[in-house]
Amino acid sequence: MEKRIYNFSAGPAILPEEVLLEAQKDLYSYKGSGMSVMEMSHRGKIFDGIIKQADADLRKLLDIPDNYSILFLQGGATLQFSMVPLNLMPPKNKADYIITGSWAKKALKEAKRVGTVNIAASTESENFVRIPKQEELKLDPDASYVHFTSNNTIYGTEWKTEPEVGNVPLVCDASSDFLHKKIDITKYALIYAGAQKNIGPSGVTVVIVRKDMLDRSQDSLHTYLNYKIHADNDSMYNTPTTFGIYIAGLVFKWLLNMGGLDEMYKRNVEKAKILYDAIDASNGFYKGTTEKDSRSLMNVTFRLPNEELEKKFIEESKKKDFEGLKGHRSVGGIRASIYNAFPKAGVEALVQFMEDFKKNN
Ligand SMILES: *Cc1c(COP(=O)(O)O)cnc(C)c1O
Repeated sequence: MEKRIYNFSAGPAILPEEVLLEAQKDLYSYKGSGMSVMEMSHRGKIFDGIIKQADADLRKLLDIPDNYSILFLQGGATLQFSMVPLNLMPPKNKADYIITGSWAKKALKEAKRVGTVNIAASTESENFVRIPKQEELKLDPDASYVHFTSNNTIYGTEWKTEPEVGNVPLVCDASSDFLHKKIDITKYALIYAGAQKNIGPSGVTVVIVRKDMLDRSQDSLHTYLNYKIHADNDSMYNTPTTFGIYIAGLVFKWLLNMGGLDEMYKRNVEKAKILYDAIDASNGFYKGTTEKDSRSLMNVTFRLPNEELEKKFIEESKKKDFEGLKGHRSVGGIRASIYNAFPKAGVEALVQFMEDFKKNN
């Protein structure tokens, strides 16, 4: 078999090896059908089984009750920045946004096109090094919804618990930490995630929406932008991303087989701890870029004493077959993305490399 590298990319990101091997096995002819999943009708019996199984397995993973619809859409999380306000803001046309990073700002930009947006809190003046505290939130009890970003992929921060928003519907962009732990889905009115970070290939976006929210979708909306249309058509209003849904379904099965999301979370905590402990034990050679109680389990961001050393660190890491450690262009430094599928052995290899690099520099 060809060798695999340690892929720390923020997204598209690493997928479980078991999933890739299973897809490879079935790629040429899916379970004796004589065709690949890519080649079959989305309305045929086989694909119908694949999407229904993906729906059922995701429900099992998150205990999603029947009063929620699961949608498999396209356009990435970015299209959700528009679909959320277009569908959920009316009739009041005002919403609260909590700004914790670049993706939250992009969501805000689209919401402003639809109605009045209240910034309930922002940590931008502190360069997004932390998640705001509950008492900092200036929430409007009459807002159409509150939008937050559960994990800030670029800055390396995450919410440890959901913001408390009373009776106002809670909406979440969970693109970079979806399924990294068990959450109580009933706290959410809508949660969305582009697949390419933690659940599959790019091209699929998972949206879980409480069914009463669908009543807000107005007939005047463009058809593809209307959640109700997608829900009424079981994500088959048009041709969905069949192959992407198939791979996401394999990832859901992989999570179930491992023992579900509590087991996944345990592993994620363990992996992140190894890396953060190494940063904290480096006597300031490596510096975490976020406040400790806001640290992300998915995207670990840190800096070296100067940019020259950071450049050298990245160059030498490539020789070790580590990929994707360069921080986002907007913040610099190092970012190790260690999503669900990223193995503990890869984190240990990185820590060893960090110790060696420190000694030699
Ligand atoms: C990557 C990312 C996005 C953008 O996703 P696309 O699928 O490229 O539109 C949005 N929000 C968060 C939190 C992300 O990490």
